[in-house]
Amino acid sequence: MPTPRIRNALVLGGGFAGTLAAYVLSQVADTVTVVDRDRFADEPTDRKGTPHARHTHALVSGGARALADLMPGLIDSLLAKGAQRIGLPDRYLALTPYGWFHRRPGTQYIIGSSRRLLEWTIRSRLPDGDQLRFVEATDVLGLTGSSAAVTGARCRDRATGEVIELSADFVVDTTGRSSQAVDWLTELGLPPVHQVTVDPGIFYTTRIFRAPDEATQDFPAVNIQANPALTTRSRRSGVLIPIEDGQWTVTLSGAPGSQPTLDEEGQRAFAASLPDPTIAKLIAAAEPLGPAFGFRAHANRRRYFERLPQWPRGLVVMGDAYATFNPVYGHGLTVAARAAIALRDGLAQHGADGTQQIQQSIAAAADDAWTMATTQDLRFPQTDCPRPGRAARLQYAFQDWLGRKAMNNPTIAEAQIDVFTLSAPATNLLRPSILLKALRTPHKDGLNTPPFSDEELRVLDPTPS
Ligand SMILES: Cc1cc2nc3c(=O)[nH]c(=O)nc-3n(C[C@H](O)[C@H](O)[C@H](O)COP(=O)(O)OP(=O)(O)OC[C@H]3O[C@@H](n4cnc5c(N)ncnc54)[C@H](O)[C@@H]3O)c2cc1C
Repeated sequence: MPTPRIRNALVLGGGFAGTLAAYVLSQVADTVTVVDRDRFADEPTDRKGTPHARHTHALVSGGARALADLMPGLIDSLLAKGAQRIGLPDRYLALTPYGWFHRRPGTQYIIGSSRRLLEWTIRSRLPDGDQLRFVEATDVLGLTGSSAAVTGARCRDRATGEVIELSADFVVDTTGRSSQAVDWLTELGLPPVHQVTVDPGIFYTTRIFRAPDEATQDFPAVNIQANPALTTRSRRSGVLIPIEDGQWTVTLSGAPGSQPTLDEEGQRAFAASLPDPTIAKLIAAAEPLGPAFGFRAHANRRRYFERLPQWPRGLVVMGDAYATFNPVYGHGLTVAARAAIALRDGLAQHGADGTQQIQQSIAAAADDAWTMATTQDLRFPQTDCPRPGRAARLQYAFQDWLGRKAMNNPTIAEAQIDVFTLSAPATNLLRPSILLKALRTPHKDGLNTPPFSDEELRVLDPTPS
């Protein structure tokens, strides 16, 4: 039988994953305390502790469904606040290395929303009252307890410097990509955690624009993917996504030797140098709202906590503290939402003593996104990692073969989109029905130009003919 209620739960870091963890724990714990180095506002705002939140944050449909499962009605609330439901591939024009996707109705989508609106909307779902307490402007310094059981955390008030110990019988580390959990566990006497980093060295820049008046409410998103076959200008990509308040979020990114700059002129030149000039034309027609922001981080990094021979009672690590992914693939939020489901279901099944099983489920929830991001990033010569072996090269050849078939077959395209939106496992692409369809589909590229409607084309080229 699962152990009964948790008395005091402690969530370290109140970002996206931390808010979800606090929500889950508020259903099974007498008290929940959330510690963060920042202060939280009563409205959607950017915070110093999450500089990446200024960048494009697309939520793929697998993640939207996970969030709706955790917090029923959440996606409807987001849409009511102006977030956009962007159908794939009908409202998402993507240039792949094999050409532009055809525009067809599909079952998957992404949610276009600023990260601050998304995070604030989920935070609004936390319960009011004494059960939940925020300890703000406070740094987490380490864990307390032993290698057998975690009993809380040591924290320091940023204003006074006072060090306090917060005790708890259940602790979740959601301090994000800067988490020190690996060191904290060694301090408790546990062996080192195996870590893997696959770093494509990408620099991201994001600027928000006001969409031109001519752009309709359902103007499509545009994604220009990097092409590993291009040896020059390798690894440049761009994405434009409609979000709330008639705005577009535009992210341009590139690997070393091909990185965008933050000045307006440099950004326009970079957008024009992408494999297709569509984003350059669209931002020329739009009004910039504020400066561009940059971000550079080790993109894919995973810490295999679940492989430790021993795991302390009362500790779970999730969100970016467990694994980070190259943001180009847009999967981090979804993996965090799935981890929150693993936490909820694991607590129901194993109780508060089942942290080892919960940690294993959190790891499983990250597997598909991890394999997709690292396999793809290894194709690019700039990635800091041993070069792919023969098996990987065969896999890339298969990927290219199927990718080209997807351009000309809606069923294969849909199966690929299911996988990309983390709505189906990657193994779905190996189903005999898909392979048979692929064998019968012509092996040729997709469209040469983006499939805009005539009305949309007028936004790109407003001069009357
Ligand atoms: C440039 C960029 C673009 C991205 N785009 C996408 C996208 O399009 N789609 C997608 O799904 N994912 C995207 N991601 C990934 C996504 O941002 C993360 O997966 C997500 O933020 C994970 O949430 P988290 O709560 O684990 O971490 P965070 O959001 O980083 O939250 C961590 C929290 O912990 C606090 N904290 C950290 N250290 C301490 C400490 N020592 N003491 C106290 N508090 C602390 C911070 O203040 C923060 O509030 C992107 C990431 C980047 C970098």
